[in-house]
Amino acid sequence: MIILLHLDAGPVERDGVRAALEKLGVGFEEVGLVDRTAFALRGEESPLPADSFSRLAGVERVISLQPKTPLASSTWREGGRQVAVGTARFGGGVFGIIAGPCTIEDPAMLRRIARTVKSAGAHALRGGAFKVRTSPHAFQGGGVDAFRALVETAREVDMPFFTELTDPRQVEQVGELIDGVQIGARHMQNFPLLLEAARLGKPILLKRHFGATAEEWLLSAEYILGAGNDQVMLCERGVRTAEKHVRFMLDLAVVPWLKSRTGLPVVVDPSHAAGHHALVPALGRAAIAAGADGLIVEVHPEPEATQCDAAQALPPQKLADLVSFARLVVEADGRRMSDLPERDIKPLDTAVGL
Ligand code: PEP
Ligand code: MN
Repeated sequence: MIILLHLDAGPVERDGVRAALEKLGVGFEEVGLVDRTAFALRGEESPLPADSFSRLAGVERVISLQPKTPLASSTWREGGRQVAVGTARFGGGVFGIIAGPCTIEDPAMLRRIARTVKSAGAHALRGGAFKVRTSPHAFQGGGVDAFRALVETAREVDMPFFTELTDPRQVEQVGELIDGVQIGARHMQNFPLLLEAARLGKPILLKRHFGATAEEWLLSAEYILGAGNDQVMLCERGVRTAEKHVRFMLDLAVVPWLKSRTGLPVVVDPSHAAGHHALVPALGRAAIAAGADGLIVEVHPEPEATQCDAAQALPPQKLADLVSFARLVVEADGRRMSDLPERDIKPLDTAVGL
């Protein structure tokens, strides 16, 4: 840590800072710069955060040399790390696509969508059973019954699946049966939920809150990593701006930004950013070109009959087109598409422990 004094700080301020550091018992060097004095603290750990030193008289700025997100930073490696969710792979030069409905509303429709997204080339299924909705008057998801339908469908079509958990108690209730946990944007800073979900040791898709900086998002990832779960995938899904022509503004610059700081795979959700199906393919293609390790896309063949996120649901054929584009760009980029689940659809396994 470096404590930089004001240009006009005199001997009284210098003595004050020196005395404060001596009182704390920290080793330091006093450095005479061209026009001012600085104090460089020795050792890795400072007994107080930078903000505390900035309150000493005569201090202009305190520069902390500690990384703010040491655990996320320590995952960095050339080419990135890979997270596996069943047969689906994300990162480390491999690109995966997660697709399915926003919310599970009807088991028969879920089956139809699962088969469709699988034949369109998706590597994993998505579907919400426990939903966080901005309005308490909106459909909140089908809960445990919908979750059971999701598990049965995923087994039937032989696809790994992601689903959102919204409450730490759901971890105990259904966690063991989940392939990939989704933490929704609105729960990015629900720290008890992050810690409880981390405990499962399963892959976690951590969505960015629409009002969070990228650093705040990485700090949330630190909670999961610190709990001993390094299977974290970061999901950019758009941030709030003054703009009205999209639901949220997709921050694609954050993809290379994250990749220069962490090895965690980065997945992009063009659906919640766009808010309209017509914009989803272009945003998805842009995300692939920006270096994302995967996409999560909402798909529905009959959005006009759904309760949740109808406007942004992509028709299945458009998903197939997006998968073809992804293959072209990913391969041109020296990467490869994820492995696909087995082609043969297995019979329904009714041994679901719910
Ligand atoms: C979702 O994926 O259905 C969802 C609600 O997304 P977000 O948490 O990003 O709003
Ligand atoms: Mn949705």
